[in-house]
Amino acid sequence: MLVGQTIGTGAYRFEVERELGSGAMGAVYLAQFHRDGSVVPVALKVVLMGLHGNEGAMARFEREANILKQLKHPHIVRLHATGTYRKTPFIAMEYIDGEPLDKLLGRRGRLGWEEVVVYSKHLCEALQYAHDKGIIHRDLKPSNLMLTSEGDLKLTDFGIAKDTDVTALTGANSTIGTAAYMSPEQCRGDKNLTNKSDLYSLGIVMYELLTGRKPFMAETTVDMFLKHVNDEPPRIGKQVADLPSKLEMLILQLMAKHPDERPTDGAWVVRMLNEVEEDFFTRKSAGLAAVTNRRADRPRNFDGSKLDDEDKDAARALRGKKKKTKKKEVVPFFQKQEVKIAGIVLLLAAMLGGAFIALKPPSASKLAKAMDDASTPEDKLEAATKYLERHGDTPGEMTDRAATVFRDAATRKREDQLTKRFVNKMQKPDDADDKEAYEAAWQAMEAERNGLLSFADEFWKKVKARFPEEAKLPFALKDEVLAKARWGWVADKKLADLRKVAALSGTTAATIKKNRQFEIAFPTEQTNPEALAIRGYRLEAFGDGDKAGRVWEQLATLTEKDSDKREWYLLACQQRVANPKSADGGAKMRPALVEKHVVAARDAAAIAKASPDDRLKGIETRNLCREIVDLYDDEADAAIKGFVKQAKEIAATVPK
Ligand code: ATP
Ligand code: MG
Repeated sequence: MLVGQTIGTGAYRFEVERELGSGAMGAVYLAQFHRDGSVVPVALKVVLMGLHGNEGAMARFEREANILKQLKHPHIVRLHATGTYRKTPFIAMEYIDGEPLDKLLGRRGRLGWEEVVVYSKHLCEALQYAHDKGIIHRDLKPSNLMLTSEGDLKLTDFGIAKDTDVTALTGANSTIGTAAYMSPEQCRGDKNLTNKSDLYSLGIVMYELLTGRKPFMAETTVDMFLKHVNDEPPRIGKQVADLPSKLEMLILQLMAKHPDERPTDGAWVVRMLNEVEEDFFTRKSAGLAAVTNRRADRPRNFDGSKLDDEDKDAARALRGKKKKTKKKEVVPFFQKQEVKIAGIVLLLAAMLGGAFIALKPPSASKLAKAMDDASTPEDKLEAATKYLERHGDTPGEMTDRAATVFRDAATRKREDQLTKRFVNKMQKPDDADDKEAYEAAWQAMEAERNGLLSFADEFWKKVKARFPEEAKLPFALKDEVLAKARWGWVADKKLADLRKVAALSGTTAATIKKNRQFEIAFPTEQTNPEALAIRGYRLEAFGDGDKAGRVWEQLATLTEKDSDKREWYLLACQQRVANPKSADGGAKMRPALVEKHVVAARDAAAIAKASPDDRLKGIETRNLCREIVDLYDDEADAAIKGFVKQAKEIAATVPK
């Protein structure tokens, strides 16, 4: 026992205070390290076995310790000094106020995946740093991972005194504890270990932290070795409900039997872990509103129908949410996950060396690219379907995007179909279609055509409430589910279009105001919805409701079948109703109306000429003239033609 003793003398000494714990090599003590007047607490590890009296081993110990002293990293326990005390070597390392992960695990059973990701990143950074210096840890395990009270993970016991080979480990002093984390190549006694060996152990550690169990259990060290070499680890998905599949795949990859199949290095693993976190974070913050919006007042499912499990899983994967624990029910999600992981394991086994590729983004990104390259909605839908069939329940930005493409394309297809049917007056739904939803949609479209937008809003809400659960799905691969889901998606799109109408009238009014103020020419293209809307509003302001109604009619016809311009159609319908046609097409009142404006323009011109310094008067006059010219240039009526001519002349007399 060293407690109470002083090792060394004078300015360079250790005062041993108490035992911190002990492991295979001996005990670890808390000591105060006095060095040239300063005092630091250290963990003093006395190496009891293997080296005593062995000069060669002692020399190796010294050599190795000197290398390890150079390791300075926030996630590596610093090695302060080494020495011998009565021919027994010791190492003095940074004292960590915290506890090793094996103890933490003992207390808590297992850790949440978010926490595991954080610690794993610390660990990978430490490993990358050491590996870059050519140092392999060789004994990665929870007891060598100290967690500080600040939540920083620190890797300790780097390679020191671990030049013990397999034969030593299988000997009397060996611990099954160490064997549980050893890579297959380590188990085989490979002398040329690479960083990949540490990555394997990392995989085992992550596995254990997440599940609370080691992937392999064995009675003897040799049995354990055989399992590392031959056995596939049991799937994690079965044990950890909310585990992101990307994280699970990463762990499987780390535990690959062949070093070549494992990730390249710690830095790569950090990137993957960041992705796992980002996926989760973006999903959380983006919220996938439609999916996560579980409101208490949401309408009841009319027929009480159940969603297809696969599609529910899809939604859940995108939400990154734990399956709602509803009183012990069978968990199809896991079954599916199992199938998937089993597939991956098979793949890993089958494609030595190349297996890695199957798990890495390329195939997914290839499918995503096909999606981006597709130009027609049909092609986009097809590409997105392909992507989602393979990667649909792997959460991530790409999957979210694929889901968006899928949903948009499927929605559009359905919307176009409904519009066509409406235009063709096919009021009777197909047998395969849901009658109730179809009827509500039909009423909504009729309300829209009649400019009764608030009624339309009501009817689309009714459509949406028909299959409320399916409506929340980000995508649906099964036909029956899709048939229901897209009713909700179409309704969502229609409701969004209705909301855009108010904004449109606002922006159009602003454009008109600005163009008048700065005397900017108004757009005239007959195929530009905005140009037509501007004209409609100007005619309304002029007092020519009849002519405005015709322009709104023109806009409605132009945009009726175009789902991208739906909001213009709705605006047109709304304004068309507000500006009904008169019996004679306004023929009687129009010349008088235009004349009234010409008189007003002439009066304004007189004032403008009297005050040439008042620029605004000039602008006002020219605008009055411009309305007459722009809006009535197309008239065949002789009187109106005359007024247009006068308006042009008046405008020319006003000083600029
Ligand atoms: P192994 O000998 O295989 O590494 P082990 O990691 O279980 O096994 P030790 O490394 O000897 O055992 O550590 C024993 C205990 O000492 C640890 O569980 C921990 O509680 C304590 N300890 C080790 N290093 C430090 C340190 N740097 N600071 C504080 N406590 C430490
Ligand atoms: Mg240790």
